[in-house]
Amino acid sequence: MRIEFADLGLAGVVIAEYDPVDDAVRIDRRAYECVRFRLGADEASRFARYALAHEFFHRAHPAATEAQAHAHARAIGGIDGATFERAVRP
Ligand SMILES: [Zn+2]
Repeated sequence: MRIEFADLGLAGVVIAEYDPVDDAVRIDRRAYECVRFRLGADEASRFARYALAHEFFHRAHPAATEAQAHAHARAIGGIDGATFERAVRP
């Protein structure tokens, strides 16, 4: 499995993804920079951990819903992904 920053396009619509074809987890570079700029380096770090937990869950459970992946990431990080979604969306 590969982990990378990438330009996922669509400006904040998709902020991370798991690509089963390449077995890659990608975090949108602009979303990460946006969280860092608006919320600070510590929150950017938590954002990356949240996104990785979410995407690892998709990788381990291909049939999982978005709600299940969010719940898993929330349980691991102790934070709500909505915090980051608000920060990256205009
Ligand atoms: Zn998801």
